[in-house]
Amino acid sequence: MSKDVPCVAVRIHGAAGEVTGSCYEVTTPHAHLLVDFGMFQGAPEQELRNTIPPDLDFATLDAVLVTHAHVDHCGRLGMLPGLGFQGPVLATEPTAELLPRVLTSSATLQQTRTQEHRGGTAPSSRVLAPHHLASSIPIRKDPPVVLFTHRNAERVARSVRAIPFMEWESIADGVEMRFLHASHVIGAASIELRVARPDGGEPVRLLFSGDIGPIENPLLAPHQWSDRPADLLIMESTNGARRFPQVDQYQLLIEILKEARAKNQRVLAPVFALGRAQTILQLLARASRDGILQGMPVYLDSAMAVRASELYARHPKLLEESLHRQCIRGTNPLHFPELHTLMSRRESESIDRVKTACVILAGSGFCDAGPILRHVQLAIDQPDTRILFTGHQLDGLLGHGLLNGATRVEINGAALDVNAKIDRIAGISGHGDSDDLLTWIGRMAGPPKTIALVHGSVEARSEFASILRQHVTSDVVEPALGDILRVT
Ligand SMILES: [Zn+2]
Repeated sequence: MSKDVPCVAVRIHGAAGEVTGSCYEVTTPHAHLLVDFGMFQGAPEQELRNTIPPDLDFATLDAVLVTHAHVDHCGRLGMLPGLGFQGPVLATEPTAELLPRVLTSSATLQQTRTQEHRGGTAPSSRVLAPHHLASSIPIRKDPPVVLFTHRNAERVARSVRAIPFMEWESIADGVEMRFLHASHVIGAASIELRVARPDGGEPVRLLFSGDIGPIENPLLAPHQWSDRPADLLIMESTNGARRFPQVDQYQLLIEILKEARAKNQRVLAPVFALGRAQTILQLLARASRDGILQGMPVYLDSAMAVRASELYARHPKLLEESLHRQCIRGTNPLHFPELHTLMSRRESESIDRVKTACVILAGSGFCDAGPILRHVQLAIDQPDTRILFTGHQLDGLLGHGLLNGATRVEINGAALDVNAKIDRIAGISGHGDSDDLLTWIGRMAGPPKTIALVHGSVEARSEFASILRQHVTSDVVEPALGDILRVT
């Protein structure tokens, strides 16, 4: 980085050496922008950090740009009216469709959690045995954080403006932007900024990767790349130290389904509403076509996941080629005859008495709240139950404990033996692994001049930084919270 007078400055307000809280402030000679305004997630002390807004003047922001609709990238947008922001929120079309629902349901959830806390009915879960797992379970004592009201969520929702992929848009004095497909979840984008120089020279090019999906994505269309190298790439590094095992996930899934059907077992799968749910649905749709699911209903117990899934079918051009063709033929690639969607608590409870072989997909993906926790509570002590994990589980939460051999747990105050079979299918991720990330950079028009690694643990990004220095450029930085990166 040069020490000359900067043309562009990027200040890191989140996701510095961690995987949540994405938020970057861009200052140019004539404009002031924010890229992402995500929540910090995890333990209660992480959630508390959300109450302290970044130290910047929100009233002077020309626009807020959003890479995608995951809460670690967009979850604090509902705070914008309270902070004095009055400009537009810019997103791709699918993200713009999702954001109002994500923000209003987040406001509702914040309200519900407060009421549950006051009434002593907040969902709870922890491992009781073996002891070494029990010790890591955090106990939540403080009241949950309330960041914004329903009214403010709706105000922000009204300010969201959609911009098509790959189209340059002038968004502020001397600044143009465009969205590039990131193959992560529906609507997810990298953001390219072109900033005019005061002297009329070549514009400064910034690229914010957002979350980068796998290069070979079975669900989504391939990534889009810029035709010009970036001066500064702000890049995620979630899986920078990880290489996924080469396993056939579909084969593993159908083995589980065949056995469950033969033994009359229920398969409970914790999923996140946007991304993981659709990846699993796509595999189940294939299993349905292959006749594996005959007589075995699949319940999708999440209104948000149902709505997000509909969105995939409404944007066929963003889907993987064969799925795109299915959509063109009029077939929804995420729908199949055995699928039943449950949109309310009442509908969720209607399957409590189902004792025959079935699959239940429900949130939360960490298995610590939402309808999945109720399903698990009702069935975990029964040997005709399987709990299928397909994603990373946070240390200290119930899902992590179950994957690591918990034998007795407490859910909503009830102590229960774990008699359910615990299954895991590894390697299903919305994020590319280190090989994918390297390939993504390798397919750019040229290596970025500088790469700043964010959105990864300190260890993951440090390991990925070494890989990048070896293969791409020596100018790789690992910024801390509050650091300012300058491009001259
Ligand atoms: Zn994401």
